[in-house]
Amino acid sequence: MSLIQPTPPLPPADLPALLAGLRRALPGIAARAPARDADGAFPAEDVAALREAGFLAAPLPPALGGQGLGTSPEGAAALCTALRLIGRASLPLGRLWEGHVNALRLIMAHGDSAQRQEAARDARAGRLFAVWNTGAPGEPPLGIEHRGERIRLTGRKILCSGAGSVERALVTGIATPGEPTRLVLLPLAPGERADLSGWTAQGMRASASGAIDVTGLELPAAALIGPPGAYESQPDFAAGAWRFAAVQTGGIEALAAALRAHLHRLGRGGDAIQAARLGEVAMQAETARLWVEAAAPRAEAGDAGESAIAFTGLARTAVERAAMEALALTERAIGLQAFLRPHEAERIARDLSTYLRQPGPDRALGGAAAHVLAAAAEPGDLWD
Ligand SMILES: Cc1cc2nc3c(=O)[nH]c(=O)nc-3n(C[C@H](O)[C@H](O)[C@H](O)COP(=O)(O)OP(=O)(O)OC[C@H]3O[C@@H](n4cnc5c(N)ncnc54)[C@H](O)[C@@H]3O)c2cc1C
Repeated sequence: MSLIQPTPPLPPADLPALLAGLRRALPGIAARAPARDADGAFPAEDVAALREAGFLAAPLPPALGGQGLGTSPEGAAALCTALRLIGRASLPLGRLWEGHVNALRLIMAHGDSAQRQEAARDARAGRLFAVWNTGAPGEPPLGIEHRGERIRLTGRKILCSGAGSVERALVTGIATPGEPTRLVLLPLAPGERADLSGWTAQGMRASASGAIDVTGLELPAAALIGPPGAYESQPDFAAGAWRFAAVQTGGIEALAAALRAHLHRLGRGGDAIQAARLGEVAMQAETARLWVEAAAPRAEAGDAGESAIAFTGLARTAVERAAMEALALTERAIGLQAFLRPHEAERIARDLSTYLRQPGPDRALGGAAAHVLAAAAEPGDLWD
């Protein structure tokens, strides 16, 4: 059973208007992306543009001033389009907004009424949220010690997108040995506890995915969101992978656009082999889009279950494959220029290759295969 439940339908005009506002903001975001491609960078201006277009509040349920993007099944299609379009303009910004959506979704699903209201107020006020789950290999998990009405945290998270800029971060930690993880909502001031020195990645530099050390941080116990295991609860945990695949799809589309512009510039588009490459890249972009648009309603449905997890496993694998194919074709089509700054394809390819690395790809495909193996229906009828 999915954690998100149907909400009253939105007025039909709202979502198209919201997406139209986003489309107006995208050229500016895309134009700023090359300048943000630097160690330690964070796209503050672009986050402000998203806020201006209503996209920091849009993930909230309508009752709390949002449009249900990520918190209602009715918002699935618009969420998918928004993730793809933002990823197309800037993959690092797409990563940051995807984290914002995920955090609000978790708080809306697991928080109590006061926690939901407060998070909604913060999102409407333009505060950026994130989910930071990844621990450093070899280090103990983040510890949560109860001290009466307060909790005290110990430990570190790595690969925290938006470290130093995110003001509300959901982190996972262990309160009692052997118990599933708990979620803690951290209020953070700009720069607080952030260390970006380890974020030396080839791409996605502007995602500012640094480390956060929370050792010694004390918070009211009300910072704990939901029961133990809330973060990993299924199907949301695994099926939520469609969202990063949607952002990646935007990256494939940006790569296709960069290749097309290159062929126009050099007058090489009429060459039969180059035309075939462009056609194949366009096909890969469309393949990815069809997969994520099929996964979104399944994963966001109120009655989503095992089948949605398996379908998402296939979708994220298909998108990864489409992206890797598009990357190889673009390199061959453009040649050395694809490796030289400031060619647009150079930056997009670095960002996309880096962002393709998401947790447990083999497990996702293996899980989908196990679902197909155990099913009684014909493989061609499995997903109806
Ligand atoms: C740009 C960017 C931003 C990020 N931001 C955040 C963030 O804000 N918050 C956050 O929590 N995390 C973040 N992450 C981390 C992300 O969620 C993943 O943890 C990370 O990308 C994992 O990548 P990996 O390739 O090391 O995955 P892995 O899961 O380690 O996969 C690597 C390979 O090992 C295989 N493998 C996995 N497990 C096993 C096993 N047990 N045995 C054998 N093989 C195995 C996989 O199938 C794959 O082939 C970010 C990552 C990126 C790239």
